[in-house]
Amino acid sequence: MEIACLDLEGVLVPEIWISFAEKTGIEGLKATTRDIPDYDVLMQQRLGLLNEHNLGLQEIQEVIATLSPMEGALEFVDWLRERFQVVILSDTFYEFAQPLMRQLRWPTLLCHRLEVAEDGRIVNYKLRQTDPKRSSVKAFHSLNYRCIAAGDSYNDTTMLSEAEAGILFRAPQRVIDEFPQFPAVTTFDQLKAEFVKASNRDLSL
Ligand SMILES: [Mg+2]
Repeated sequence: MEIACLDLEGVLVPEIWISFAEKTGIEGLKATTRDIPDYDVLMQQRLGLLNEHNLGLQEIQEVIATLSPMEGALEFVDWLRERFQVVILSDTFYEFAQPLMRQLRWPTLLCHRLEVAEDGRIVNYKLRQTDPKRSSVKAFHSLNYRCIAAGDSYNDTTMLSEAEAGILFRAPQRVIDEFPQFPAVTTFDQLKAEFVKASNRDLSL
C-alpha cells in the first residue's frame, strides 16, 4: 500500500501568509522565517498585526477564500487520489487552510491549529508536534505504508528523505542544488510521471 504525501503551500496553493499580506496590504505580514528565523517570534508578530488591524478569524478566512489553488492543482489532486491514499502534510493551520481545502475538495490534511477566542480573535497557535512532516512519514511506515512525498522547500526535505521516494516540485534553485538526490520538476504532468515512476505498482498516467 502506498501513501502520497504532499506539501500544501508552494505545491497546491500559493504561500498563504504572503498572499494574505498582498491582499490586505499589511506589509509586516510579508515577513517569513528568512527574515525572522525564530518561528515563535515571527508568529507572535503575525498575531499581533492581525489584532492591530482588527482581523479576526472570520475576516481572515474571507480574504483567504479569495485565493485560488495553483492552476492544475485540483485536477492533479483528483488524479492522485484515484491512484494513492493522499495525505497533505503542511506547516499551515487548519483555520487558514480551510477556504483553500474546500476548493481542493477536502483531501486529508495534517497540520497545526490556531487558538481562537470567542470574539473571533486569534490568540495563539498550537504546533501539532515537532518535525511533523518526517514524523508523519515515520508513522505511516509503522502502519506498513510505503510513502512517496513531494514538496517545494527546506521544511519538506526531512519528509522527502524519510519517504521511499522524494520529489521536489517548483523548488528554488538553492534547494535543488543542495538536495541533488531528489528529482526536481515544475509541471503537474511531470509530477504525475514522477509518482508513476516511484510507485511499486503499475500505474497509468
Ligand atoms: Mg511549501
